[in-house]
Amino acid sequence: MKIIYPHMGTLTMVAEQLIEEMGQEPVTPDRPTRQTLALGARYSPEFACIPFKLCLGTYLEGLEKGADTIVSGGGYGPCRAGLYGEIHRRILNDMGYDPEFIFFWPPLKKPFDFVKKLGRVKGSSSWLDLVKIIRRAWAKLAALDELELLAQDIRPCELQKGDTSRAFNRGAAYLASARGLSEIAEAREAALQELNGVSWDREADPLRVGIIGEIYVQLEPFANLYVEETLGEMGVRVRRSIYLTSYTKHDVISTKGDLRSKKLARPYLPQLIGGHGQNSVGDVIRYSRTGYDGVVQLAPFTCIPEIVAKSLMPHLSREYNIPVLTLFIDEQTGSTGTETRLEAFVDLMLQRRERERELADQSGKPELPCSLTG
Ligand code: SF4
Repeated sequence: MKIIYPHMGTLTMVAEQLIEEMGQEPVTPDRPTRQTLALGARYSPEFACIPFKLCLGTYLEGLEKGADTIVSGGGYGPCRAGLYGEIHRRILNDMGYDPEFIFFWPPLKKPFDFVKKLGRVKGSSSWLDLVKIIRRAWAKLAALDELELLAQDIRPCELQKGDTSRAFNRGAAYLASARGLSEIAEAREAALQELNGVSWDREADPLRVGIIGEIYVQLEPFANLYVEETLGEMGVRVRRSIYLTSYTKHDVISTKGDLRSKKLARPYLPQLIGGHGQNSVGDVIRYSRTGYDGVVQLAPFTCIPEIVAKSLMPHLSREYNIPVLTLFIDEQTGSTGTETRLEAFVDLMLQRRERERELADQSGKPELPCSLTG
């Protein structure tokens, strides 16, 4: 099989390794570009969300490169992600393509279906081999998360703008080509060394912002217009509500989602609304309680779960005293406009922090504790 799959941040490297080690040929997707998006948007329903359009564009590029199979994950719950596979299939069939589609549902939702599809992709590898393959993939996933967290810590304090991103890219490339467990461990060491070699201001006290919202736009930098890097280079330490390892644990293996956020969201939004909408509500509360200066919500245009969550943001922002900026993203969203909005948001957070420090000085109260572990 020649397999194409969606490009979703660093997960792409792990997917490539998994497919290769199962004896199949990955048609590794390039990071999406404006062209990928335009291609996907041209053949998608107008009001489809941006992840749908980007995935379709990526599949079309992969099919042109010779892919004969499309592998992806299906969502569950009341959101269109559960219909992605079928709609993509119909669009591609209408265009004259006839690839094999393998869409995985979370194993606990449809265990037999999952095992059957895994059996198809794993080819002649034994189930024992598969356990070892998954172990290696998990080691890479964890190393990539560790690298991202360190980059998010260093970037706002770097002395030379862009050094962190360059070091991160070099480190990620080491991990991309590493295969066995010891190779992955060595690549992880070398990658962390690259980042630890960046000169940064150890006295700096950057703003802290939590990034919340839909998974694809959180994890794929092209889809979010590089919001994480942009904020970092504006002097902001970011944390996303979703990382690869936490997503795998909460949404793939368990399917219950991040229960910490869901519990906090319940008084405001008691039912599941699909995607990460309920989590977005709880995450605002979580970030406010751990001393963050603000929250950026990333929402694909027409994404119902994030639209519902957004309707609660003004209330949560007032009640928990934390500024929230919502960015709705589609193919018309430009990077300059987004950058201007982020700059204004950073100014607002700085002024707010200054005012709160003055008030704390006057009243003699200590400041809120800060946590970077969220
Ligand atoms: S959560 Fe939103 S963006 Fe993601 S698939 Fe569902 S509707 Fe689309």
